[in-house]
Amino acid sequence: MSTAQDGGEMEFDALVIGAGFSGLQGLKKLKDLGLSVVAIETAEDVGGVWWWNRFPGARTDSQSWVYCFDDDRLKKSWRWTEKYSPQAEVQAYLAEFARIHNLYPHIRFGTSVTAAHYDEDAQRWSVRTDDGTTYSVRYFVTGTGVTATPYVPDFPGLQDFEGEVLMTRAWPEDGADFSGKRVGVIGTGSTGVSVIPLIAEQAERLTVFQRTPNYVFPARNNKLNDYEWASIARRYDDIMKGVREHPFAFDIPVSATLPDEVSPEEQQRILERAWEKGNHWMLFAAFADVFTSERTNKLAADYIRERIRAIVEDPAVAEKLCPKDHTLGHKRPPVGHDYYETYNRPNVELIDIKDTPIERFEARGLVVDGRLHEVDAVVLATGFDVLTGTLNRIDIRGRGGQRLVDKWAGGPRTYLGVMVDGFPNLFMITGPQAPFANIPTVAEVTADIVTEIVAHARHRASPEVEVSEDAVDGYSDLLSSIFDMTVLGRGESRSWLQGTNVPGKSESPLLWVGGLPGYRAIWADESAKEYPSLQFT
Ligand code: NAP
Repeated sequence: MSTAQDGGEMEFDALVIGAGFSGLQGLKKLKDLGLSVVAIETAEDVGGVWWWNRFPGARTDSQSWVYCFDDDRLKKSWRWTEKYSPQAEVQAYLAEFARIHNLYPHIRFGTSVTAAHYDEDAQRWSVRTDDGTTYSVRYFVTGTGVTATPYVPDFPGLQDFEGEVLMTRAWPEDGADFSGKRVGVIGTGSTGVSVIPLIAEQAERLTVFQRTPNYVFPARNNKLNDYEWASIARRYDDIMKGVREHPFAFDIPVSATLPDEVSPEEQQRILERAWEKGNHWMLFAAFADVFTSERTNKLAADYIRERIRAIVEDPAVAEKLCPKDHTLGHKRPPVGHDYYETYNRPNVELIDIKDTPIERFEARGLVVDGRLHEVDAVVLATGFDVLTGTLNRIDIRGRGGQRLVDKWAGGPRTYLGVMVDGFPNLFMITGPQAPFANIPTVAEVTADIVTEIVAHARHRASPEVEVSEDAVDGYSDLLSSIFDMTVLGRGESRSWLQGTNVPGKSESPLLWVGGLPGYRAIWADESAKEYPSLQFT
């Protein structure tokens, strides 16, 4: 294996972008195949989003014991301390994963990939990084994740604001102290919902600027005591097996009940239990058809609205917090820790900016509907240009010099979120159109597919493997038609799941919502039939 050096030209079998859940899976699995592999990571350590997102309240919203890899060694040695792990613990977990599998020597930190061009004659990728190094590799593998590229709206006058501007994704390393300050938060997605209650506890005054209210489930976090951990540890293999069978790869039961099968009283009892269990129970464990029946979806949404009205003391504020224009699931529902309760605090004000957007920033604050809201600091929790946003910022060119960004002008089209026709030997781990599910599991499943294809290509001594256009069309069309069968697309509001949160981004479902088992079945069939969708040259 060559040792990478700034400014030089290096040769490896494979290059992986990223050292988060996806990149680390790719690096480990390709290394285990016996390939020479280099991983390129912009940050100074492993973690991906769990390295960058250090804002107060950053923690998982999937149960800790499944928001991790199905790794035999770590399942025995690692112990999660809380039901929903704080950011630092997830980053430490990934560091431990990298350490025990000896991945660190293969990662170049503080470096970003700027371009990757396919050389059809050599059947290799030429990958350039911002330190001037060129890597010639057979396989170019992206593990750029879902939320690597922040989206910051172009607020007029932001540069004139004399207070502090904090982006949740680039939080100051030594934290931020809001004591005695007037703070504004823009954005009420999962990030805003996480940060708002904690800023409210510290700041003199918090003003939340909300464009679209979300359905926020209570997290019901707790420290995992010895008894709970022993129970998880004893069943760990079965839990992980269940996760792969679960539509969204969680450790949450899946209901087979339809609302019409039970009385109205029983419906309410089921919804109440799901709310009390917290997290995403209401999406999976209450009724079987929350994502496919508008009636059931509305039943659950009405229930959540009633809970909001019961928690928030000021009826006018409660109404502003009730989502009305989109189905439950249209936007990925955040999980909160005393989120709605925060609006009962005397130092918190909610400003509805749906019909009266932020007009501009001025030196002392921001103007909405002609009123200046004076703030000392503003926190931007405005989301991400998910999935394609990161890949499209890299100059990726396949056969005939075709640019990926052009090919995807109308939205991404892939085979299983893993391969793209016209881009041989390019593989994506947790790429656009991968399953909408618990990310570590998606990273494992998609990395398994990539590794299987690479192993097969090497077994056949094929230097080049490419997916057919028919397979890409078939998968992408199936993905869209399944998405259309759900109620997830229905709503007036913007959603990153369809690319509509970023102005100018083309609208198309960015993830497979047909469930992880259905996705795995497509690949199992492909594999059993000896890869009819792939051409090994
Ligand atoms: P998001 O869900 O896209 O939310 C962005 C927020 O910013 C929305 O409330 C949006 O309003 C608002 N916004 C955007 N542009 C605006 C503008 N011009 N004016 C006013 N408001 C504006 O992004 P996110 O909260 O960062 O979450 C993204 C995803 O990251 C989540 O769905 C989840 O998958 C992941 N995440 C997970 C966790 C966790 O708990 N594990 C935490 C954070 C993030 P509109 O809704 O009106 O567009």
